[in-house]
Amino acid sequence: MVTMAEIKSFLGTMGLTLRKLLRGENAIADYEDIQSRRMICYSCEFLTGKTKKTFSCLSCNCNISLKIMFTTAECPEGKWKTMDY
Ligand code: SF4
Repeated sequence: MVTMAEIKSFLGTMGLTLRKLLRGENAIADYEDIQSRRMICYSCEFLTGKTKKTFSCLSCNCNISLKIMFTTAECPEGKWKTMDY
């Protein structure tokens, strides 16, 4: 079940992403950075799910494939940070 805190966190990330896009800034992370985040998540104790498409994070309940794409996203456990290109 998705909690209000998780919804708030997701909407916060989307809001920051939209703001960056409207300012003409890069909101999508570079391929290398996405891969780096992916490797961290795939070896994380909070990873859950059966396929790459359904992998999610037990800490924030986000879909991993989506979360790692946005420069404004960050790991709730401090394992990777937002990016500012
Ligand atoms: S976002 Fe952070 S806590 Fe969640 S699976 Fe990835 S590395 Fe682990």
